[in-house]
Amino acid sequence: MERARHILRSVFGYEDFRFRQSDIIQTLLDGQDALVLMPTGGGKSLCYQVPALVREGAGVVVSPLIALMQDQVDALSQLGVRAAFLNSTQDADTRQGVEQALLAGELDLLYIAPERLLTPRMLDLLERSRVALFAIDEAHCVSQWGHDFRREYQQLTVLHRQFPAIPRIALTATADRRTREEIVAQLDLASATQFIHSFDRPNIRYTISEGNNPRDRLWRFLKREHPGDAGIVYCLSRNKVEQVAQWLCERGRLALPYHAGLPERVRRENQQRFLREDGVIIVATIAFGMGIDKPDVRFVAHLNVPKSLEAYYQETGRAGRDGLPADAWMAYNLQDVLSLRRLMNESDADEAFRRIAHHKLESMLGLCELTRCRRQALLAYFGETLQQPCGNCDTCLQPPATWDATEAAQKALSCVYRTGQRFGVNYVIEVLTGKEDERIRNNRHDALSTFGIGREFKATQWRHIIRQLIAQGFLDVDTDGHGAVRLTTAARPLLRGEIRLQLRALPAREKTRKATASTRPVIELDAADQALFEALRVRRLELAREHSVPPYVIFHDSTLRELASLRPSSDDEMRSISGIGEQKLARFGRDFIAVIQGQSPRGEEALVQPE
Ligand code: ADP
Ligand code: ZN
Repeated sequence: MERARHILRSVFGYEDFRFRQSDIIQTLLDGQDALVLMPTGGGKSLCYQVPALVREGAGVVVSPLIALMQDQVDALSQLGVRAAFLNSTQDADTRQGVEQALLAGELDLLYIAPERLLTPRMLDLLERSRVALFAIDEAHCVSQWGHDFRREYQQLTVLHRQFPAIPRIALTATADRRTREEIVAQLDLASATQFIHSFDRPNIRYTISEGNNPRDRLWRFLKREHPGDAGIVYCLSRNKVEQVAQWLCERGRLALPYHAGLPERVRRENQQRFLREDGVIIVATIAFGMGIDKPDVRFVAHLNVPKSLEAYYQETGRAGRDGLPADAWMAYNLQDVLSLRRLMNESDADEAFRRIAHHKLESMLGLCELTRCRRQALLAYFGETLQQPCGNCDTCLQPPATWDATEAAQKALSCVYRTGQRFGVNYVIEVLTGKEDERIRNNRHDALSTFGIGREFKATQWRHIIRQLIAQGFLDVDTDGHGAVRLTTAARPLLRGEIRLQLRALPAREKTRKATASTRPVIELDAADQALFEALRVRRLELAREHSVPPYVIFHDSTLRELASLRPSSDDEMRSISGIGEQKLARFGRDFIAVIQGQSPRGEEALVQPE
C-alpha cells in the first residue's frame, strides 16, 4: 500500500484515495477479486490502474468502448504510464508491435476489446506474458436485460478458468440488484469482495420545471449559469436536435448536433470537437453519451422528459465527473409527455412490455411533479436512503409553495364531467370562467351548474391546475387527435371528497445559484484570479492542440483553478497542486508558471479560502 500511495502522488498527482479506492486496491494487491459499483466520476479507473502499476506485469483492461481507448491511452501516456490498446481500428503492424511490447514486459496497462481478448491467439499470448490483473470495465454489459448487452462478456469466465491466480476486478456505474447478481453469476465472481458505493452525486444540482417554451428557458439558464461551459442538451427527436443546435449557434454558442441519422464521420467529428475544444455544446438524442469520459461537462439539459428514471440518472450522470458543481437541468412541456404516452400506446410491443414502459414513465413524471427533495426520491428509487433533504436541488433551494387545491380540482373535474368529456382543456376553462362564447351558448353549456364556478382563477391559472391534474393521473387526454379530456378512475375519490389534494403553486421565478454543495471544496476566484484562470485555459488549449489530446488530459479545470488562486512559482509549489504529478510537472510545469508570471502579481490581498 505504501507503493500504491506513492504512485497516487507521484504519477497521478493526487493527495489521497477517495471513498473506498484504497480498500479496493488493497484487495487486488492481496490477489483477491473485487466487484466495484461506483457512480460515474467516482474514480473507478484508479482502482485498477494503481495496482497494475504496483504489481508486476501488465494490467489487462477489457472494455467494449473502442472509441475511448485512444484517449485513455493518451491520457496515461501523458502521466508517463506505459499503456497501449488492441482493437480492430489498428493495422496488423501496429497490433504486432503492441503484442511484442506485452511479451517483453514493457507495458503497464493494455486495453482490449472483449472479442479480441477471447481469440485463442490472444489467450495464448497472455499465457506467455506477465499479467498483473484483469479489469472488466462496464461489467453490466454481461446482463441480458440491460441496454448494453454484449454476448462476448458472458464468455469472460474463461479468464477465471485459464488464469485462476490472477486477480480480477469488475467495474460498473449502472447496476441494480438484478444486474449485480447477474454479473456475479456470469463472471464467476461469487468469492469477490463487493464494493458498492453510494449512487449519490452531491455535486450535481437537479432542477426540473414544466411549462411552455422549454427552449427559451434553456437559453436563460445557459446565459445565467453556463455562459462559456461545455454541456449536453438532450432532445427526443433528430429533427429537434438539428433545430436546437442551429438555434443555439444563431445565438452565438458553439453547438453541434449528434444523432443516429448523421453520417458516422460527422458524428465522430462532432464528438471529437466536444472532447477537444473548450465550451462546446452537444445537442443529442440519447444515442450520445455511452462512455463519454469528459470530466468537465458542466451541465446536462433535457428538453424532454426521459423515458425512465434509469435513463434520467444515466444521462444526468454525465455532468460533473470532476466533482465540481454541475447542473442537471430539465424543462419540459406536458404536451410532449402526452405525445410520448401516445407513442407508447401505439407501439407494437407486447402488453407486458407496454405496462412496464408506462410505469417507468409515470415514475419519471412523479419525480418531475415532486414537491419535496428530488435527490431523496431519486436515490430511493435505486434503493438508497438519504436521511436529510439534500439542499442542492430546486425543491430544496426553493421549496415549491403548495396549496390545498381540493376544491379547485373538484370544480375542474365536475366541469369536465358535465360537458360530456368531449372537449379540450381550453373549452373546459372557458366554461369554468364563464366566458361569453357562441360555441358554449350553442352547446347550452352556459346553463350548466359549473358555468362560471371558477371565476376566482384566471385562465392561465386553470391551465396550470389542469396540467397537474393530468400529470398526476386524475384526468386523461384523448389521444385520437381531438385532445378531449376525460376523468380517470382516480378522479372519483377526489370528486367525492374522500381525498384531499396538494398542488404546486404557480411556478416562481428561477433564481441564480447561491450556495453550492459539492464533494470537494470549490475555489472561488476573484476578478484577477479569474483573468489568470482564463489565460491558463488558453495556454492549456494550445498545449492540447500541440499534443493532440483533449484539454482535460493536460489539466482539469480544478487544477487550473488552484493554479490561478495559489499562483505557484516553483516546482515544489507546483507539486502541492492537486492533479500535478511528476510527469506533468516535467512536461507542462514551465509553460504554466510562465503564464502565471506573465500576469501582473497581485498585492497583499488575502487568498480566498476554499469554503
Ligand atoms: P469513473 O470511471 O468512475 O467514471 P474516473 O476514473 O474517470 O471515474 O475518475 C473521475 C475523475 O476523478 C478523474 O478525473 C480522476 O482523475 C479523478 N480522480 C479519481 N480518483 C481521484 C483521487 N483519489 N483524487 C483526486 N481525483 C481523483
Ligand atoms: Zn434536495
